[in-house]
Amino acid sequence: MVELQGIPVSPGVAIGPALVLDAAGYRIPRSLLAADEVEAEFARLRDAVDRVSTRLESNRLETSAVAGEHTGDIFAAQLQMLHDPRLQAELRRRIEQEHQSAAYAVSRVLHNYAEALRKLDNPLLADRAEDVLDIEKQLLFCLGAVSESRLVDLDETVIILSHVLTPSETANLDRRYVRGFCTETGGPGGHTAIVAKGLELPAVVGIGNFLDRVGNRIKVIVDGDRGRVILDPDPETLASYKKRLKARRSLTAKLSELRDLPAETIDGTPLRLSANIEFPHETTTCIERGADGIGLYRTEFLYLSSREEPSEEDHYQAYSQVVREMEGRPVVIRTLDLGADKMGHRPLAEYEHNPFLGLRSIRLSLRNLDLFRPQLRAILRAAVHGDISVMFPLITTLAEFRQARMLLNVVAEDLKESGTPHRSNIPVGMMVEVPAAVMMLDRFVEEVDFLSIGTNDLAQYTLAVDRSNEYVADLYQSSDPAVLRLIARCVEVAKEHDCPLSICGEMSSNPARALLLMGMGVRHLSVPPSSLLRVKKAIRSVSIGQCEQMAERVMQLEAARDVDLYLLDRLGEYVPELIVT
Ligand code: PEP
Ligand code: MG
Repeated sequence: MVELQGIPVSPGVAIGPALVLDAAGYRIPRSLLAADEVEAEFARLRDAVDRVSTRLESNRLETSAVAGEHTGDIFAAQLQMLHDPRLQAELRRRIEQEHQSAAYAVSRVLHNYAEALRKLDNPLLADRAEDVLDIEKQLLFCLGAVSESRLVDLDETVIILSHVLTPSETANLDRRYVRGFCTETGGPGGHTAIVAKGLELPAVVGIGNFLDRVGNRIKVIVDGDRGRVILDPDPETLASYKKRLKARRSLTAKLSELRDLPAETIDGTPLRLSANIEFPHETTTCIERGADGIGLYRTEFLYLSSREEPSEEDHYQAYSQVVREMEGRPVVIRTLDLGADKMGHRPLAEYEHNPFLGLRSIRLSLRNLDLFRPQLRAILRAAVHGDISVMFPLITTLAEFRQARMLLNVVAEDLKESGTPHRSNIPVGMMVEVPAAVMMLDRFVEEVDFLSIGTNDLAQYTLAVDRSNEYVADLYQSSDPAVLRLIARCVEVAKEHDCPLSICGEMSSNPARALLLMGMGVRHLSVPPSSLLRVKKAIRSVSIGQCEQMAERVMQLEAARDVDLYLLDRLGEYVPELIVT
């Protein structure tokens, strides 16, 4: 049994056989050859090596011609690596003596080479490791062992173990078979984490290097509550996790009884409790769990989960479905938040050194109107079917908000002129995710119809911590006093100007933090569907006075850790059922 510690990003427990994706994400099962297949397999390998060599040589010539010999030498070096006698001998030995398939041998040998280079702790050689993995990928492709798409063809339940999973790969995981996942990289606020929560897949990220120690099919426990991953658990550990799984299921069943009860404190202070969704089909769960509406629809996942760029009609169909299925409840559509860790179909920006500070979100939409306009048209068209609002993400300056709103007006005019059914008088809001917007909030509130605080980005930009970087995960805390003070200012300004305000960042999905926000005066939270009933349970277990006392005490504290310890204590006192043991 091996126990690993990572960052818990999506709660719950999953138990199942491992499916290990190598660093490039390919699934190469260990398969053995019959004795009479060995010769043909070795010939297949030789053929693949020849084809890759030809490809590398032509890359070298073409690149040298375009970018100079120095650049072309990258491929000369790869050619040299591919023909390294020790590497070739090791491949031959595995096929001839151990009867491994060529694909499996290639994946293991090149992987070990890359790892050895990485361990030398020399940045230049670490780059070479990427070259080795590139050769691996090409050989595997020539051997027919991988196609371009990852994670296809699952036919049994698995736990995915990978170096990295992108948000779009996570969005496309086959929920019928994938029970949970853990990755070597990734941070607490990344979109991979958010999608995992949306899919209700227990997940642990940022574990550091461990894949070398794991084989396919060994039993794995993913503990998404505490950030633990247990490989090959002993019978005692397995039994205790099975017990926890059972306890979780019975808590979920108990919480489902709250579905139709209002989210209000013991003494009757109401909270509007909406849900965050990434996909239209999630509305079913939202209704099942009694959501008051959709407080954040992350529409960029329409891009990330389809092979082709969505058309205006695709947008329209998705939004109409959501608003119809919500049966009159309000739906807030957030416009595209692409860029940084969420990339679309075509390169929308040049290479950026700091993509989280670069051309992302509303900035990207405003510079790609052929992408933005169809979405705005679809939102106004879908608004005839129900209660739709629109909000713009990552607004930093007043000019950005004005430009986006103006574009919405222009689009409404176009629709009117062409006689297309639509509704133009929908509320237009902004997300508050950048400290600059908080500082200017008194001006913004004069122009916006509502505010929604995105604490995931607000924490990232306030604390100067990349939300998806495992190395600084300990610094990424939405309960940091600096973030709390910014939220308090938003609440104050919104109240003064009678401007509706909600919080849709992940912070509000944590029951203890939800109580704090309630105590700070927030009356509308939007949380992942998986958290709706837990947050409702917490709210229904306290008085508003208790929440306010919590807020008063917390605002005197100096560190996120103190805040969280205090909040956990209070939660244990008021709602012990929700404490995970
Ligand atoms: C946020 O930043 O808090 C937010 C809700 O938006 P996203 O997580 O999609 O960036
Ligand atoms: Mg955000």
